[in-house]
Amino acid sequence: MSLKDQIKTLVQENLEEIVANRHHLHANPELSYQEFETAKFVVEKLKSYGIEVQEGVAKTGVVGLIKGKNPDKKVIALRGDMDALPITEANDVPYKSKNEGVMHACGHDVHTTSLLGAARILNSIKDQFEGTIKLIFQPGEEKLPGGASLMIKDGALQNPEPTKIIGQHVMPFIDCGKVGFREGMYMASADEIYFTVKGKGGHGAMPEKNIDPVVITSHIIVALQQIVSRYAAPKIPSVLSFGDVRAIGATNVIPNEVKVQGTFRTMNEEWRMEAHERITKIAEGIAEGMGGSVEMDIQKGYPFLVNEPELTRRNKAAAIEYLGEENVVDLDIWLAAEDFSYYSQEMDACFYRLGTRNEEKGIISSVHTPTFDIDEDALQIGVGLMAWLALSELNA
Ligand SMILES: [Zn+2]
Ligand SMILES: [Zn+2]
Repeated sequence: MSLKDQIKTLVQENLEEIVANRHHLHANPELSYQEFETAKFVVEKLKSYGIEVQEGVAKTGVVGLIKGKNPDKKVIALRGDMDALPITEANDVPYKSKNEGVMHACGHDVHTTSLLGAARILNSIKDQFEGTIKLIFQPGEEKLPGGASLMIKDGALQNPEPTKIIGQHVMPFIDCGKVGFREGMYMASADEIYFTVKGKGGHGAMPEKNIDPVVITSHIIVALQQIVSRYAAPKIPSVLSFGDVRAIGATNVIPNEVKVQGTFRTMNEEWRMEAHERITKIAEGIAEGMGGSVEMDIQKGYPFLVNEPELTRRNKAAAIEYLGEENVVDLDIWLAAEDFSYYSQEMDACFYRLGTRNEEKGIISSVHTPTFDIDEDALQIGVGLMAWLALSELNA
């Protein structure tokens, strides 16, 4: 039997456990950096498959190693994230969250299940490939500073050092049965911008005695539109949005200060740093010119996510082999953020999407909503394709 058919057969043989694992993880979600029980579950499963395990990486992370023949020949990594969100589940399903106010609403239960399933299959055929597969079960994708960055700091990418990493994420906008790939820029860096404009408040009828921070803020927000329209290279996607502007005065009261919050997203690290400087300079210049001042606080989030073109092309070709051309779609860029990007800044990386939508079954909710769920038929692909991509890459 070909390796591909062998994987498909093993998926079917393990299917009951795969679905049970997902139900267990979904029913017992844990928030970012508190994935203690989840990590314990992962460790027990890996050990029961006979896989070498390293516990407590970045506290709640787990690293597994599957050594094939000639283990030093090539090392590649597979990544799954394990954390849930502070959302109360509204689905009425037998595996509904038992932890009030916590829910796997981003499908990280599916990612953990898929990686466990792929690990079991790969371990059972390790005499049939050369090289080593590193399994990275990480905490805290949903919360800064990002579990990926902590796993890297804690040595998850050393001893042995993988040269490539592959990750998958559920996608409720793609039909179950299909997967999506994109070469190059895929997801954005996301930085939080907070600034306070200070002036001098007073009676609204006596502007000559005040320094009006509301007017200063208005000028700053309009001027900052130049960041994207005039300073960003047209080839680099960029977004600057302010969603929270607070001037707590009244019809006849000018406040002392105005507080503003926004987000800056882009797909180029150099431009990202330059933009931070320009945002600060423009705001300071305008505030000072108008007699006030500004305090700028830009909090850096995840970097942008880039899919290394050759690895992604090979993975996509392997996915077509596994699922057929009609089931592999191209993804568009998306200015959401994902901490897999930290790995993509360190080595060749490929982050692809697992379709989980099924309109007939009414499974259409977006991630991060109380009604998010997946068509569980997607688990077979989540497990099988991940194993197949790992093998294809080791043999590439
Ligand atoms: Zn999420
Ligand atoms: Zn996610």
